[in-house]
Amino acid sequence: MSEEKSLNFIEEIVEADLASGKHSSILTRFPPEPNGYLHIGHAKSICLNFGLAKKYGGATNLRFDDTNPVTEDTEYVDSIKEDIKWLLEGTGIDWAQELYASDYFEQLYQFAVKLIEKGLAYADDSTSEEIAAQKGTPTQLGVNNQYRNRTVEENLQLFADMRAGKYKDGEKVVRAKINMASTNMLMRDPIIYRIKHAHHHRTGNAWYIYPMYDFAHGQSDSIENITHSICTLEFIPHRPMYDWCIERLEIYPSKQYEFARLNMTYTVMSKRKLLQLVNEGHVSSWDDPRMPTISGMRRRGFTPESVREFCDKIGIAKRENLIDFSLLEFCVREHLNKIAQRRMVVFDPLKVVITNYELGEESLLSENNPEDENGGERNVPFTKEIYIEREDFMEVAPKKYFRLAPGQMVRLKSAYIIKCDELIKDAEGNITQLNCSYIPESKSGSDTSGINVKGTLHWVSVAKALPIEVRLYDRLFTEENVAAAEGDFKEYINKDSLQVIPVAYGEPSLAEATINERYQFIRKGYFCLDKESTANKLIFNRTVTLKDTWAKVNK
Ligand code: ATP
Ligand code: MG
Repeated sequence: MSEEKSLNFIEEIVEADLASGKHSSILTRFPPEPNGYLHIGHAKSICLNFGLAKKYGGATNLRFDDTNPVTEDTEYVDSIKEDIKWLLEGTGIDWAQELYASDYFEQLYQFAVKLIEKGLAYADDSTSEEIAAQKGTPTQLGVNNQYRNRTVEENLQLFADMRAGKYKDGEKVVRAKINMASTNMLMRDPIIYRIKHAHHHRTGNAWYIYPMYDFAHGQSDSIENITHSICTLEFIPHRPMYDWCIERLEIYPSKQYEFARLNMTYTVMSKRKLLQLVNEGHVSSWDDPRMPTISGMRRRGFTPESVREFCDKIGIAKRENLIDFSLLEFCVREHLNKIAQRRMVVFDPLKVVITNYELGEESLLSENNPEDENGGERNVPFTKEIYIEREDFMEVAPKKYFRLAPGQMVRLKSAYIIKCDELIKDAEGNITQLNCSYIPESKSGSDTSGINVKGTLHWVSVAKALPIEVRLYDRLFTEENVAAAEGDFKEYINKDSLQVIPVAYGEPSLAEATINERYQFIRKGYFCLDKESTANKLIFNRTVTLKDTWAKVNK
């Protein structure tokens, strides 16, 4: 892993700008709109913006792009901050300043006044339908209307009246006076201000007019002296407007650069769609462990290290692509394998009585993590009656079946070798119990080279077992490319994405489980404690399976 990674195209731009002296240091920003929770796509943007600044000794602002009062909320502001902090945990990186586009409302207003004074903006009384019709289509040029010729004085007065709340929503807008015949539709006199009598989460009822994204974003970048304003590809056609405003206003020349947004298989990434999943009850909340949100991934047990590793692995591209969800799971699995505490949990119990075991209860030692030499050991109680997994026994076993079968031997993890002597069935013929004998000399760590045993099973003591709830998660959608699939995306929701095991049997040490610890339930997968757990009922989420089983089952 020592070889230098080649630079991505944005790093190349930054290096060139630093080398030429165009910039002596860089300042980036992460500009979320507080209208939803952050998702894995935002994680990519965060890693890019903060990572770039860190690499080149610059800084990054967190700027809430809060120019649409109707959809924004402080709940989202708080969650966004928490999620960024979590994602950057342990890196030493933090935002330089926490800023809000709404803090610039007065300045943005003055910018619009300046454009009007320069004859570069006008108040328009047209309805939104009229504006759309006059704008034309990609193949049909737009046309000027009579409002375009209003005098500077009249425009200034109308804009001041709009600010003062004289007009109702939609009665007027202010538009930049650019070119109704531009080949770029976004340059056909774009709206820069609209009237909205709405409560804003920070400015309250101070404003009746709000700037449009294209008028707020670049100017906010410029006010902060952002050097490299990095956004996703769909903003390429917005770049001429970005530059037009900065040039006409004669303010700091921030520059916009675009990269391909992250799209992932078996999930959706639009906040609108994610909101719909929450509001319509398809998931329990924004942090439902099946959601691609940062809070969902955190609750599911993903680590910030593994999400950052994923973002690093996928790199920065100039073309849209679809990243396999399995790659994210791979990164999670790799990290959890190193840090997870091993524990034994039986999901579907089959009782085993060890007929010749007369020691009452023994405390056996089991290593916490074979990947970590400082991981230590824990005590696991062993008793005459234990549970094994029902699927680890077969009455009629094929050749090369290394688990338990009549007359066959297995090793119990960190305990003894046992042999199945007898099986007991109920009246319907279901197996209810196995009677086994154990080999006292086979205690874990002893030399058992003379005994040919291939399989090792996990188990728990019946008397000491801790009942826990286990939640198993699967892909949220059945379709690989949900966004491209025909019809309503909700038709593709995976009905079996959550499987609850109300009672599984864990070894008693799990009673001390904490929310930050990660566990590997041996032979079962990686798990973490869910926040809905109570003292009487511990709930564990499966973060990811031990191996990538998805590809095999579904292809
Ligand atoms: P949506 O499309 O769901 O409305 P958005 O892009 O409008 O999301 P913002 O809050 O504006 O959401 O995003 C903040 C930043 O994160 C922006 O710079 C945006 O370009 C970036 N971003 C959003 N989605 C992705 C993605 N899928 N991949 C990479 N970056 C993204
Ligand atoms: Mg956006």
